[in-house]
Amino acid sequence: MTIDDAPRDALRSGPRELLRWVASGAAVSRADLARLSGLSPSTVSQRVEALINQGLLEETGAGRSRGGRRPRQLAVPTGGAVVGAIDLGAHHARLGTLDLSGRVVQARTRSVSIEDGPEAVLGGLLAEVSALAAAPEKTGGASAASVLRGIGIGIPGPVQHATGRIVSPSRMPGWNGFDVAAFCADRVEVPVIVDNDANLMALGAHRTAHPELDHAVYIKAGTGIGSGVISSGRLHRGAQGSAGDISHCRVVADPAPPCTCGNAGCLEAVASGAALVTALRDQGVPVSDLTGVIRLIDDGDRHATALARQAGRAIGEILAVVVNFFNPQVVAIGGRLADCEPLLASVRATLYERCLPLATQTLLIERVTTGQDVGITGAAHLVIDHVVATS
Ligand SMILES: [Zn+2]
Repeated sequence: MTIDDAPRDALRSGPRELLRWVASGAAVSRADLARLSGLSPSTVSQRVEALINQGLLEETGAGRSRGGRRPRQLAVPTGGAVVGAIDLGAHHARLGTLDLSGRVVQARTRSVSIEDGPEAVLGGLLAEVSALAAAPEKTGGASAASVLRGIGIGIPGPVQHATGRIVSPSRMPGWNGFDVAAFCADRVEVPVIVDNDANLMALGAHRTAHPELDHAVYIKAGTGIGSGVISSGRLHRGAQGSAGDISHCRVVADPAPPCTCGNAGCLEAVASGAALVTALRDQGVPVSDLTGVIRLIDDGDRHATALARQAGRAIGEILAVVVNFFNPQVVAIGGRLADCEPLLASVRATLYERCLPLATQTLLIERVTTGQDVGITGAAHLVIDHVVATS
């Protein structure tokens, strides 16, 4: 049984949680882990042994003696194990290394142009993540090389989960059908896990902000638009990996703008950052990118603000269907458009108008607050879960 298949209760005190308690300093011994998890000492010992055998934990033997044999202390190996993470966007990539508790060790942003194609873009980013792990920057005197345990990559397009292949992405010329997993396997020797960027945002935000909630929906509204779903505490991908992809759901719009998929009136063609740029230009407003749109909205430009409200209503309409159907505890909006107050206000208003009272009674509607590292945090957790599950 993998962690993905484990019952929810077992997941809360599974090997991953034990590792996280040690990595965060909450536990330094088997006794601490037994107390925190509620598991029996023998089960804790069994799981700790497995983690030690995998090199994910070590015993330092430096515990304080209380007169008898010195208790063995547990720690995440120093010089330690890290996971690499890449969160790829249309114009920028966030990349870094994170420790086994999911904390960022090093992170940086790189300009990329997705039109350069997968080999050029991914080749450079993979090399940089590997280099970061091999020769970390000196911070606080610690600069020992880390052992890279795996790399997680978020792609701003549909990813077939079983194969790691990209299928019919919008605005990513040259990427259709590209086998990201195979490309990476030829270049690095550690496991590489590929997923959609909205899924990684969902995982990162859920683990950081609301690990206690079992049912959550995260909308990523940036240049494109997508969502990630947490169901019963786990990322829900569906049969192929396309669960949560709301970009081509149809919304009421007159006129219905054409979409990159060949249809008209798709959510992405109405409410994404790219759609707002196009709509403003069509109205004669000289704006070059999403940053320019957000600046106009912040300055109270009436054209831009009206479009942001319209986008918020469109997102709210689709989200209302999702909320009625799925009954989440929290809905959170992330991505660069989440900072647009008029858009967020329209999402809220539409949800309250269109959802069943029972669905919204205790529903939290919020902004993703994890910051720019939310995607790499999700990517790291994906890898950590994989490493622990295969221990
Ligand atoms: Zn479409």
